[in-house]
Amino acid sequence: MADLAERLNSIRTRLDTAAAGQPVHLLAVSKTQPASAIRVLAALGQRAFGENYVQEALAKQQELSDLALEWHLIGPLQSNKCKEAAIHFDWIQSLDRPKLIPLLARFRPAEREPLNVLVQVNIDDEASKSGCAPEQVTGLAAAVAAEPSLRLRGLMAIPDPAASEAKRQATFRRMRALFEGERARHPGIDILSMGMSDDFPSAIEAGANLVRIGSALFGPRSSRQ
Ligand SMILES: *Cc1c(COP(=O)(O)O)cnc(C)c1O
Repeated sequence: MADLAERLNSIRTRLDTAAAGQPVHLLAVSKTQPASAIRVLAALGQRAFGENYVQEALAKQQELSDLALEWHLIGPLQSNKCKEAAIHFDWIQSLDRPKLIPLLARFRPAEREPLNVLVQVNIDDEASKSGCAPEQVTGLAAAVAAEPSLRLRGLMAIPDPAASEAKRQATFRRMRALFEGERARHPGIDILSMGMSDDFPSAIEAGANLVRIGSALFGPRSSRQ
């Protein structure tokens, strides 16, 4: 528990240094972590949590229903999970196919705020990763923006983790350029989600304003995900 507090403080300090006065959001990636660890971080002021699997998230959300947390889905989204995702998350960061858009829009409860959506881009063209091709971003973004129950907020990417530091920086800069291109079409968008435990300072330097941090915050995950 003391460890969690120390790691959160250390991340916040590094984030503030990299952000140099710009607002940068910290998403705590809590996949595989117990609800008790989320509760500790929530007591320290961390509100936004990211989960990769809808079912795993629902179980934790139930345990933590007394807390006002913001839940982000960051893992691949299947169409048969769109209903639960649209009901139980505040953000979907992994929208990467046209087919998901009408499903999320239809299942978002009318009495709730619009569901925040980021279009996930497969920026390094990795065969195994989710995300749309860079050429598809504009079409997907427009389709999200056309749905009243969805709110287009920006773009998300997971660069190739095996890439050199120089290649990763180039990737971050390409994402920034894509983001600025979409912002010219949709002036309301405000979030560029990139940067994880190993590379968040250089992502921030390239213009990320939401970083997704798991292991540097919670400690190493037991299973490889
Ligand atoms: C697991 C995960 C993270 C966090 O990764 P760490 O290296 O543990 O910080 C961020 N984004 C996505 C999409 C993830 O799946």
